[in-house]
Amino acid sequence: MAAYDFDLFVIGAGSGGVRAARMAAGFGARVAVAEDRYFGGTCVNVGCIPKKLLVYAAHYPHAVAAARGYGFETAAPKFDWPTLIANKDQEIARLNGVYERVLTNAGCKILNGRATLLDPHTVEVNGVRHSAANILVATGGWPYVPDIPGREHAITSNEAFHLPALPKRVVIVGGGYIAVEFAGIFHGLGAATTQIYRGPLFLRGFDGEVRTFLAAEMRARGVKLLFDNDVSSIVEEGGELVLSLKDGTRLACDGVLYATGRRPNSGKLGLAECGVELDADGAIRVDANYRTACPSIYAVGDVTNRVNLTPVALAEGMALARALFGGMDRQVDYDYIPTAVFSTPPIGTVGLTEEQARDVYGDVAVYTSSFTPLRYTISPVKERAFMKLVVDKASDRVVGAHMCGEDAGEIVQGFAVAMRAGATKAVFDSTIGIHPTAAEEFVTMRDPVR
Ligand code: FAD
Ligand code: NDP
Repeated sequence: MAAYDFDLFVIGAGSGGVRAARMAAGFGARVAVAEDRYFGGTCVNVGCIPKKLLVYAAHYPHAVAAARGYGFETAAPKFDWPTLIANKDQEIARLNGVYERVLTNAGCKILNGRATLLDPHTVEVNGVRHSAANILVATGGWPYVPDIPGREHAITSNEAFHLPALPKRVVIVGGGYIAVEFAGIFHGLGAATTQIYRGPLFLRGFDGEVRTFLAAEMRARGVKLLFDNDVSSIVEEGGELVLSLKDGTRLACDGVLYATGRRPNSGKLGLAECGVELDADGAIRVDANYRTACPSIYAVGDVTNRVNLTPVALAEGMALARALFGGMDRQVDYDYIPTAVFSTPPIGTVGLTEEQARDVYGDVAVYTSSFTPLRYTISPVKERAFMKLVVDKASDRVVGAHMCGEDAGEIVQGFAVAMRAGATKAVFDSTIGIHPTAAEEFVTMRDPVR
């Protein structure tokens, strides 16, 4: 490999790229990483981390209201958006430094600038050419906004993290992860929030009962949900934004956030010229070993548009580095990937929805529980939790675990381990609960509802 400048050239210092680069360098490979925007990528800068900090912020008014039931009388809390954004930015800047140091300490060469491919072994950054035996494209994705009249008035999640002020009235368009998470954030922080989704019920692909439960909880808290509707146009009138909706109504607001999906960052990279194949949405096609149609070029993470989650990009980057330079051929197992939607309340889920399980296994037993968590029994603000287990009757194996309620992500992570190990309902039943917790409900649901 010495004929090339590098053994591995990584384009993009996000979740997948940083992990692959660091591990490859750890195996002794000569690695370069090009990044043109921010170290840590989407997750660190405009994704998981700042989002979760805003979700935490949005919980405080609710927590203060709940505290009254516990004897705490306080004046209504005063919220300052610029303080939150400044503190969030400070933490992100710290993490940018951590990610950059992780790479330099591992011995990677960092190139600040946009990389383009010139041929299957040559990358250009800032006018300088670099050759590499292997090239990894880990360039992530970018928000997609449909082409409607007035789309220039809309922001995406990228801008939402840097708004100068919290809008008084916010409209969120979309029904996926980002839309429901930001609906909870804006509403929790005090904005009058409307979410518009084109279909009959948001979070398509998640368990039906969980989606219904979340919609009811969000409405109970005061989020206005408009389903089977969409925005036709946006105009600015007298200092406010006016939306014309598909059902003919008009809606005035101070900010519109489009969360209508993301597209792979695969344009203008020189991929086609190298023989790399893309699908209709621009996602790079890879085989089971992340190899593209060009044998020296690989791709991991969101640019392949498969499971667009940080832990998946990390696992893919790690698997690739191990395979190329560590002599280890351990493929990522995409079964039972747990995921959380940090909505308010959050969803935690692993395995099959009831609908999917019926398709796959036919005969399934379903256990559900809906209850008021102990914390909210003596609180003036109420909140409920919903849990569900889906069991393949023939094998007794638990094939789906779903929760909507406080700490759902924290709770479901552990159950994902059990389910990957093949736990049966009998194993769940024989596990002693931790009392009093909400999580114990997962091991005490005795009678199937269906
Ligand atoms: P990215 O992290 O996007 O990194 C790609 C990098 O490549 C970027 O830094 C970019 O600047 C750089 N780049 C692009 N083109 C070039 C070029 N030509 N030259 C040089 N550099 C280039 N996932 C979760 O698991 N949990 C969450 O809670 C979660 N929350 C999210 C919230 C939001 C609002 C968003 C948008 C995403 C969220 N995600 C979450 C998804 C997660 O952020 C992504 O799945 C993950 O970041 C993908 O990693 P990646 O390495 O594929 O790409
Ligand atoms: P999603 O793909 O999750 O959701 C996109 C939403 O926009 C869907 O409801 C979709 O509707 C709707 N939509 C798409 N096109 C249009 C259109 N032209 N007009 C109106 N509505 C439209 O994308 P997100 O942007 O929410 O998030 C991107 C990805 O990032 C997620 O899928 C997830 O992988 C990752 N992510 C993970 C998080 C986490 O782990 N907590 C948090 C945030 C993001 P329909 O369903 O009808 O197609």
